[in-house]
Amino acid sequence: MRPLALIDTHTHFDVPDFEHDRLALAQLAYERGVEALVLIGFLAKRFDRLVQVQQQINQAATPHPQALLAPGLHPFYINEHAEQDLQQLEQLIKTKHVIAIGEIGLDTFTAEMKQPTVFARQQEFFSAQLDLAQQYDLPVMLHIRRAHAETLAILKKHNFKQGGIAHAFGGGVQEAKAFVKIGFKLGVTGQVTNPNVKRLHQVIQAVGAAHLVLETDCPDMTPLCCQQSHEHRTRNTPANLPYVLDGLSQILKMDQQKLAAQIWQNSCDALNLDWNYLHVIPH
Ligand SMILES: [Zn+2]
Repeated sequence: MRPLALIDTHTHFDVPDFEHDRLALAQLAYERGVEALVLIGFLAKRFDRLVQVQQQINQAATPHPQALLAPGLHPFYINEHAEQDLQQLEQLIKTKHVIAIGEIGLDTFTAEMKQPTVFARQQEFFSAQLDLAQQYDLPVMLHIRRAHAETLAILKKHNFKQGGIAHAFGGGVQEAKAFVKIGFKLGVTGQVTNPNVKRLHQVIQAVGAAHLVLETDCPDMTPLCCQQSHEHRTRNTPANLPYVLDGLSQILKMDQQKLAAQIWQNSCDALNLDWNYLHVIPH
């Protein structure tokens, strides 16, 4: 019997942390029910690697999740992006099967990111990538830190209707509802397993299962149960996604089987996938 079928909607499974054991981890993730995972972009210079890793996974002889591509220019790396990176992104959209643009958005977490010129440039790149998403009718993967109102304002100014996922959602209840209202799902990470993240739990309860998707955001956001030490960060992997489902089911007080089916549908809706829910009923 297959475990509950899941989609990891946000991974950085292309990064060097996974170079030595990526296919073994992909197989483990598949054995735990992860049917698909999304490879998220952040820098144009890594786009080639993103595509190579997609091929490496999808051509593996061992059982593996299907790897999907969502390239984009991350706001946190704004000083590393150049105008021609946008053309490189468009080229990728034209030539590869890209399911979303990501991760894109606004980030004012640090003092440097808040500087007016830096923030203005973030807004320019965010807008330009929303234009591309509209032109090619693609959803977007949003990265937002301490800039929820500004992000919403830009999406509204674009009259953005393609939707997507607000990844690792860290806003409050009102902000969460505002993103849901304009067609976004909220990405839930392993943070949900931390009893101290009361605000996230409130958001989850207010929004409900109908508007949530799961992600590992690996190699970061390791679920509490998989954390091996307090001193060092334990690498997160797509194989940990069932722990995120487990954490979410506890917060929503919802049966895992029912929740997994709903989350599957939400993920497919957000990413325009017409996949039927794969869970095999035991017999
Ligand atoms: Zn990410």
